[in-house]
Amino acid sequence: MSDTQTATNRPALPAEIARRRTFAIISHPDAGKTTLTEKFLLYGGAIQMAGQVRAKGEARRTRSDFMQMEKDRGISVSASAMSFDFKHFRFNLVDTPGHSDFSEDTYRTLTAVDAAVMVIDGAKGVESQTQKLFEVCRLRDLPILTFCNKMDREARDTFEIIDEIQENLAIDVTPASWPIGMGRDFLGCYDLLNDRLELMDRADRNKVAETITLNGLDDPAMEDHIPAALLEQLREEVEMARELLPTLDPQSVLEGHMTPIWFGSAINSFGVQELMEGIATYGPEPQPQRASPREIAPEEKKVTGFVFKVQANMDPKHRDRVAFVRLASGHFHRGMKLTHVRSKKPMAISNPVLFLASDRELAEEAWAGDIIGIPNHGQLRIGDTLTEGEMLKATGIPSFAPELLQSCRAGDPMKAKHLEKALMQFAEEGAAKVFKPAFGSGFIVGVVGALQFEVLGSRIELEYGLPVRFEGSQFTSARWVHGQKDAVEKFTNANKQHIAHDHDGDVVYLTRLQWDIDRVERDYPDVTLSATKEML
Ligand code: GDP
Repeated sequence: MSDTQTATNRPALPAEIARRRTFAIISHPDAGKTTLTEKFLLYGGAIQMAGQVRAKGEARRTRSDFMQMEKDRGISVSASAMSFDFKHFRFNLVDTPGHSDFSEDTYRTLTAVDAAVMVIDGAKGVESQTQKLFEVCRLRDLPILTFCNKMDREARDTFEIIDEIQENLAIDVTPASWPIGMGRDFLGCYDLLNDRLELMDRADRNKVAETITLNGLDDPAMEDHIPAALLEQLREEVEMARELLPTLDPQSVLEGHMTPIWFGSAINSFGVQELMEGIATYGPEPQPQRASPREIAPEEKKVTGFVFKVQANMDPKHRDRVAFVRLASGHFHRGMKLTHVRSKKPMAISNPVLFLASDRELAEEAWAGDIIGIPNHGQLRIGDTLTEGEMLKATGIPSFAPELLQSCRAGDPMKAKHLEKALMQFAEEGAAKVFKPAFGSGFIVGVVGALQFEVLGSRIELEYGLPVRFEGSQFTSARWVHGQKDAVEKFTNANKQHIAHDHDGDVVYLTRLQWDIDRVERDYPDVTLSATKEML
C-alpha cells in the first residue's frame, strides 16, 4: 500500500491537516508501551538511539517514581505529548498515564486523540487494564489498531489471541500480518496487506526488518527463508485465517468495529514500521470535535482548540501551569489572539509549546490535530475552549464522581486559607475533586484511586510547604445536583448536612448510603443526582 493512500471520510482537508495522525497507546503495564514508544521515536528520527524514553516512561510508576517525576516536571510534561514525523506524516502521540488510579486523566486524554494503538502481550492476551481502556475508547468509537507484542517469547497460538480479542472486546479482528513461528523460533511475519515477508534480525535490535517482496504465499522464494515445517504451518494458518476471519474493511476500522492486528517484537524493533504504516493508513486524519451548539470540523479556517489536561507547578517557584490543548480546527500561529470561551476574554497565545519528542520547543505554528502546551497562571482549565471564531464549546470532556472521599486538614490550623488555595489548584488541574461542605469546616477530597491521596499529600507539602492530614470522612459517595434553580435550592435547604460545593461552586450531594441516593430520586423528582459532570 502506498503511503499516500489513506482511509478517509473527510476529503476536504488541507494537506497539512490530512497528514496528521493523533493517537494514544493503550495497554496493560508491562505489555511494552514504553519500548514501542521508543521505537516510534527512533523511526520518527526524533531520537538517535532507543533507550532515551525509558526515564520518561510512566508505566510502572511506584509512588517514589511518581514523586521523582513530579520534581522533574519538565520531563514528564514533554512525555505527555510527543510529535515526530514518519514518512510524510506528522504523528502526535499523546501519553496515557499507566496507573489505573489515574483513569479519569486517561479518559480525558482519549478525548484528544483520533485513534488508539492497543498493545497486548502475546503470552498474556487481553489484560484488565487493556480491557478498561478499550471500553473508554469504545464510548467514543475510536479506531483501534492492535499490536501483539513479545512474539520473540513463547506466545499463545495466533488464532487463540485473535479469538480472545474478539470475544472479550466484542470487536472484529483482521490480521494485517501473520507470525512465523514464535519464541525462539520466531522468524518474522508474513505481511498480509502487502504480500511481503518481514524477517527479524536478532543480532541487531534497532535494525529495520529485512523485507522480501513476494508473489503470494506460494512463491518459491519463501523456501529460501523459512524452514519447510514452519512454511507449511504458515501456509495452512494463513489459508484458514483468510477463510475464517474478516478481511480488512477500512470503513469498519474507522468506525471502531474492526481492528487490524500486527504481530511483532517491540524490543527487536520488529513489526513497528508496519504498525506505523498502519497508523498512517488507517489512522485516521483529524476528526471533527463534538461541541455545542455545533460540531467543529478540522478544515474550518478559524482556529479552535480545547484543554484536555492541565499540569501545574512545573517550576514550584512560579505557580505556572501548562494547559494541553488539542487543536480542533484551523491553522494556528504563535501570537494569535484567541477568545477564552468560558470568560469571553481574549488571550494572546504568545509562548505556546510544541512537544517535539526530545525537547519542548516554541510552536511557531500548528494545525488541527496537533497538541500544543499553553503556559498560563490558572486561567485555563480542563474542558475550556479557545477560539478565533464563534463561541463554540467543546463537549464530551467529563468529570467523574470520585470513588474515595477523605477529609483533609492542614497540620497547622492557621494555614487553612493556604490549604484551600492548594486544594483548589489541584482541583482545577483535575488531580482531585475538592468539596467544601456547607456545614462545618475543612474540605473533603475525592479521588478515583487511593494512591492519589498520597501523591496529593506529598505535592501539597512539597509545593506549598504545608503538611496535611487525610482522614476518613463520614461520606463515601458524591453526586452532582442538577435541576432548576429553585428546585435545587429547596433540595439543598432541606439536606444541608449532605451538601457541599465543588471548586466551580456547583452543588454536590454527599452521602454514605446508596439508599439516600435512591430516596432523593424518589422524593425530589425535580432534581437529578449525577455521577458525572461536564467540565466547565
Ligand atoms: P510498559 O510497562 O508497557 O511500558 O512496558 P515496557 O516497554 O517497559 O516493557 C516491559 C518489559 O518487557 C521490559 O522489560 C521490556 O524490555 C520487555 N519487552 C518489551 N517489548 C518486548 C519484546 O518485544 N520482547 C521481549 N522479550 N520483551 C519485551
